[in-house]
Amino acid sequence: MQDLKVLTKEEKEGLDVPRISEDQVAENSFGKKVYIESYGCQMNFADSEVVTSILQENGYVTTSNVKEAHTILLNTCAIRENAEHKIRHRLQVFTHLKAKNPALTVGILGCMAERLKTKLIDEEKIVDLVAGPDAYRDLPALLDEVSDGQKAINVFLSREETYGNIEPVRLNSNGVTAMVSIMRGCDNMCTFCVVPYTRGRERSRDLPSIIAECEKLFQQGYREVTLLGQNVDSYKWTSEEGQLINFAQLLEAVALVNPLLRVRFSTSHPKDITDEVLYTMKKYDNICKNIHLPAQSGSNRILDLMNRSYTREWYLDRIKSIRNILGEECGVSQDMIAGFCTETEEDHQDTLSLLAEVEYDFGYMFAYSERPGTPAEKKLTDDVSEEVKMRRLQEIIDLQRIHSAKRNEMWVGRKVQVLVEGDSKKSKLHHFGKIDSNKVVVFPKGDEVKGDYVFVNVTHCTSGTLLGELC
Ligand code: SAM
Ligand code: SF4
Repeated sequence: MQDLKVLTKEEKEGLDVPRISEDQVAENSFGKKVYIESYGCQMNFADSEVVTSILQENGYVTTSNVKEAHTILLNTCAIRENAEHKIRHRLQVFTHLKAKNPALTVGILGCMAERLKTKLIDEEKIVDLVAGPDAYRDLPALLDEVSDGQKAINVFLSREETYGNIEPVRLNSNGVTAMVSIMRGCDNMCTFCVVPYTRGRERSRDLPSIIAECEKLFQQGYREVTLLGQNVDSYKWTSEEGQLINFAQLLEAVALVNPLLRVRFSTSHPKDITDEVLYTMKKYDNICKNIHLPAQSGSNRILDLMNRSYTREWYLDRIKSIRNILGEECGVSQDMIAGFCTETEEDHQDTLSLLAEVEYDFGYMFAYSERPGTPAEKKLTDDVSEEVKMRRLQEIIDLQRIHSAKRNEMWVGRKVQVLVEGDSKKSKLHHFGKIDSNKVVVFPKGDEVKGDYVFVNVTHCTSGTLLGELC
């Protein structure tokens, strides 16, 4: 069961009052145990923390044991077809649980819920509840409807909802790093992407609630926050006094919460990332020197068809600014799509040559998956065969692996500062943590504990990890 937190009026007003105990809540939790599974991007995982907070305020408790749950909620992703297949497969598994316990409620949240709406209820008999990403405040009412024997659905998309006043309940937390959502939705309309349809219009969360959340996290012992949005560089919020705050200013305000609180952010859009953001990163040691800058393709013809609003030359100019302002050590990572509509061998070679020119530290690489309702599905032809997509994807992955190894080797022989996040996956005798350019470092334990900053001499590396000894 998760740690429980029910906000009282005093707490909402910023006063510290003790948490109520699990026992106290459990006494009132008959029929109200919820199990949540999250899929997809970091935003979805952050949303599950908001959902948990809303449910706990309404007397629900969360459990990590699906077998004792009265309600199962799947927070879903719709970005590629296989993400949806995974959910449908998972629902089959839950069908066995429902056969044993007909009172079990099964709900679908997130992007797949928003995309399929009532179709999900029609197609998947086990599903009782469907709630889109902007409908989470309505979840207690929707669950009540289900307990009255009805199917419940809310997929309204909002132009205002940011869940700004909700304090997320941290799930599966290491107590050191946390995600902080700064905006929702996306207005960019990349032709391949379903996000604008599943998450609605772009809106930014108010600055004071972001800062209050970061301050509280720091007081609770957290030492790193990742500011999340589909396109963080277009963050815009206007105060009551009419002051317009952009992303660089927000970043600075979060960096000032405490010099010991590291700040990361994701995702940047190449058309919007400004030199002002890069100079703000340079100004503060606690803003991590790492930028996730999805390229999607190295071919201008494909970038145009994707409606990415930048060219290869523009993208490379942004990389040049990153190197000029933040230096060679700044981590840079990419997203790339292989086999988008009409992609030729020449276009694919342009993607490989972009990789070679930038030499990214890391990448998330995907085969194009046509999504119903997107501009690409309506206007273009998904004409690259699966076989060719997979071969091109493999070539991109292979080249990225070489660059990741090369970029990691750059750190061998150096002394690096690491924020300790916990035990290494492979050995309890080792700790792991990250350096500010987002590289994972594993080293034999000393006296340090989670949340400490330590210095490590990097002695060797793999393409994924730096290995070393405490200084
Ligand atoms: N907002 C971010 C951006 O603009 O880069 C990323 C959003 S999306 C959740 C994450 C990544 O999924 C994208 O960068 C893209 O590479 C990939 N993606 C999105 N739609 C896709 C599709 N239809 N097929 C394959 N990959 C896709
Ligand atoms: Fe999708 Fe493009 Fe928005 Fe990213 S910027 S979420 S890829 S539409």
